[in-house]
Amino acid sequence: MGWSIGYDPRWKRDIGYGVPAFCDQPGCDEEIDRGLGFKCDDEECGCGKFYCEAHLYDTRPHTHAAPPKREHPSWAEHVLTDESWARWRAENPEGVAYMGTQRGGRADG
Ligand SMILES: [Zn+2]
Ligand SMILES: [Zn+2]
Repeated sequence: MGWSIGYDPRWKRDIGYGVPAFCDQPGCDEEIDRGLGFKCDDEECGCGKFYCEAHLYDTRPHTHAAPPKREHPSWAEHVLTDESWARWRAENPEGVAYMGTQRGGRADG
C-alpha cells in the first residue's frame, strides 16, 4: 500500500499517507494526505501532485508548476514536536523555521 512517510525531491516536501496536507489545486483547502490515493498518477499529465477527489481525476487544470508552498498545520506541528523528527530538526534549521510559519494559530502550546 505504498509509503507512510517519504520525501519528494521534485517538489521538495514530505509525502506519504502519513502526511496530512491540503489539495494542490490553488485555492482549494480540501484536506487530504499525500498518499498514493490522492496522487495524480496519470502518465500523460505527469504532474505528480496531490489532489482532493474533486480535482484529482480531471487532469486538464493540472500544471507542472510548483504546487502552492504550504503545509497542513497538523503536519507542521508533528514535525516540530515529535521525537522521531528530533534529528531532522537539529540538521535542518531552515526547515524548522519554515514549518514554524505553517503551524497556524496553535503556536502557544
Ligand atoms: Zn496531474
Ligand atoms: Zn481540491
